[in-house]
Amino acid sequence: MSLIAATLLSFLPAKRKHTPSGWIGFNAPCCGDKRQRGGFIQNAGDAVSYHCFNCGFKASWQPGRTISAKMNKLMRLLNIPDDIINQLRLEALRLNDNSNAEVRQIIPKFDARELPPESDLIANFLNNPPEKLMPVVEYLVGRKLYLEDYPFYWTPKIGFSNRVIIPFYKDGVIVGYTARSVNDVKPKYISEQQPGYVFNLDRQTYDRNFVIVCEGPIDAISIDATALMGAEIKDSQNWLLRQLNKEIVLVPDRDHEGPRCVEQALEYGWSVSMPDWPEGIKDVNDAVIKLGRLATLYLITSAKESNSLKIQLKAKKWFKEENVT
Ligand SMILES: [Zn+2]
Repeated sequence: MSLIAATLLSFLPAKRKHTPSGWIGFNAPCCGDKRQRGGFIQNAGDAVSYHCFNCGFKASWQPGRTISAKMNKLMRLLNIPDDIINQLRLEALRLNDNSNAEVRQIIPKFDARELPPESDLIANFLNNPPEKLMPVVEYLVGRKLYLEDYPFYWTPKIGFSNRVIIPFYKDGVIVGYTARSVNDVKPKYISEQQPGYVFNLDRQTYDRNFVIVCEGPIDAISIDATALMGAEIKDSQNWLLRQLNKEIVLVPDRDHEGPRCVEQALEYGWSVSMPDWPEGIKDVNDAVIKLGRLATLYLITSAKESNSLKIQLKAKKWFKEENVT
């Protein structure tokens, strides 16, 4: 319990009654009430409220706020000495500072970034397509990704010409990219990525009342979802996704990193969808190639689960059945 809640409790009048809903009733000090119409309640997260059901006077405090004038008045009415009130003011400021620092750490900032030299939209190369672009186009066709689906970029520059460049946007600005190799050349991805980034957030404006989170960008583009850009969920990613005010649904890859990602999703209170994919399908893009976009979305939606026990049971089976390595 916070020092503030504890002090208020100890200074409430000794003659009290407790209601089943958690209110403490006593003679309200604000208006000379004698029928115990003053109510005090301590809510989740250390918040406290006072409500006089006689004259209507209200005062409240919660961590992150300073002591309001009304709360100050209540403290004086409860005969809390001035030096203690001052101490409580300082305590409120200290808590306020801490919570701001925590929030500042979690809210990520993204600066504008350049794409690799000579990058341009693939569509702009197609009037007179260079030879080296063809494997990239073939890769996209093979993955059932269309130029209308996303602003795919390419550059003839050495080191990049065998890659499809996927720009990262935030509020319409390019803030990074990943360049995925379309043959077996390693590394698979060359990325310029800022910490805490969630891929494809800008495009989550549709009417779905949930947001789908995949691991990789190709999966996300396949169904207009978001991507973690890996199998780990960061605090700031959770924060960004929460800002959408929708149910968050993780669709993990069916591989050895999936179980840990599901565990993290549960810690953040997300839903998880582990669809009964046909054999051989390990991720969303595989599913789109085999089943098409609509069927894939249908399977994801029908397998969506928010109950953590059910998610844990399903995960045990789901990752085992596929003999994930
Ligand atoms: Zn009153």
